[in-house]
Amino acid sequence: MAVIGGGYTGMWAAWHLLAAGARVALLEAGLCGHGPSGRNGGFCESMWMSAPALRRAFGDGPARRLLEASSETVGEIGAWCDEHDVDAWFDQSGYLCVSTASAFDEVARRAAEAAAALGSPDRVVELSPDEVRARCASPVFRTGVLIPDFATVQPARLALGLRRRVVERGGLVFERSRVRSLRAGPGGIVAETPEGSVRARSAVLAVGPAARGLPALRSRLTVTSSHIVLTEPVPDVIAALRWTGRECITDARTLIHYFRTTRDGRIAFGWGGGRLAYGSRVNGRVELDAAVVDEVRRHALRIFPGLEGRRITHAWGGPIDVSPSHVPQLGSLPGAPVHFAFGYTGNGVGPSHLAGRILASLALDRRDELTRLPIVEAGPGAWVPPEPLAWLGGSVVRTALIRRERVEEQGDRADRLTRAICAAPAAVGMHLAR
Ligand SMILES: Cc1cc2nc3c(=O)[nH]c(=O)nc-3n(C[C@H](O)[C@H](O)[C@H](O)COP(=O)(O)OP(=O)(O)OC[C@H]3O[C@@H](n4cnc5c(N)ncnc54)[C@H](O)[C@@H]3O)c2cc1C
Repeated sequence: MAVIGGGYTGMWAAWHLLAAGARVALLEAGLCGHGPSGRNGGFCESMWMSAPALRRAFGDGPARRLLEASSETVGEIGAWCDEHDVDAWFDQSGYLCVSTASAFDEVARRAAEAAAALGSPDRVVELSPDEVRARCASPVFRTGVLIPDFATVQPARLALGLRRRVVERGGLVFERSRVRSLRAGPGGIVAETPEGSVRARSAVLAVGPAARGLPALRSRLTVTSSHIVLTEPVPDVIAALRWTGRECITDARTLIHYFRTTRDGRIAFGWGGGRLAYGSRVNGRVELDAAVVDEVRRHALRIFPGLEGRRITHAWGGPIDVSPSHVPQLGSLPGAPVHFAFGYTGNGVGPSHLAGRILASLALDRRDELTRLPIVEAGPGAWVPPEPLAWLGGSVVRTALIRRERVEEQGDRADRLTRAICAAPAAVGMHLAR
């Protein structure tokens, strides 16, 4: 089997293929785990925040199966780390989604209602403002929900540990081997790199945001970016917030803020509102955008005023593969034994493990309960227009969303034009929010 892409998706697929006894060659353009998989916020998520959208898209029965599988997959990542002695700092301490303005109060509540309607009220638990503040006392927090099955990981440790175990299990890993073309060959598929080629029965395509560069997939995703700032150790700030339960937290905005504590007492604070990438110029990296980093720092101060005067020691960013339906896309290219997964929309740490198992089944031509999950061959929900329309339209919508959410955080309502622009994607079937 050929696996193209050495992020979590490709490496989990490789791991499960090897476990099934297949021979695997993994081709990675750079170094395994040096893309988003090694540099994310480390929120290892189930999909329960998307429960309302999944019910709408797939109906209650299929949505429930997918949600339960996504919960199981988080636990399986932790169990895998234990079993294979990979110290990825896996910590299943749960997740809070909190509202920071009345305009966002409904978002978390809808997830709790959906979980209850699916017969799983314990999966998403509503919290009052006091209960939220007992876990993290930011002055801007209002109501929220707790999803107990989320974990955090140290992303690079997970990626590098996974790479090590794939190699030990017999996977042939070729780094600095960008696949330039995939074509049908005798008995399967040929993946060509500048240095050589790999012939395989089938291929797993796990290139993340770079899928935007592939003609067959281009119209199924857009690429935005996400940026994180990391503070110096601030144990006093964390103690004053009473944020000692190690929960990872997001607000309920569309251009989401996400934050967590680290083992050495820092706060990592991210924002999913960075600029859009143009066309196919995505290779797993986004240059650090100084203006965006400064903006993220200011956003962090609004939520945690106690950080005033504290140093930011690290900042980084990366591309986000955004699916128009907000649901990851898995499937097979028409007429070719090539199976793909992308479109995690900034939530791939947990789901990429599930996707890796599904891709392994597809590549082995197995049809099982995983390949029958509703995300397989569900399609993109809407088609992304070609460039420059996608970039232009996306940039206009991003600017309007930034304006709308800023005004809403001040307790106001955005003007009519701004609201109309923000609503435009939904009118063509794109779901920007969870
Ligand atoms: C700043 C940031 C914060 C994030 N925070 C979170 C978070 O807290 N929680 C969460 O769940 N998700 C988060 N994400 C998203 C998460 O990192 C991704 O969803 C996940 O890593 C996807 O893994 P992947 O393997 O599909 O893709 P990637 O990690 O992008 O891996 C794809 C790999 O394919 C390689 N590749 C590309 N083209 C080729 C080619 N032609 N030939 C060979 N190889 C190729 C790339 O070099 C790359 O290594 C974040 C992302 C960013 C950027």
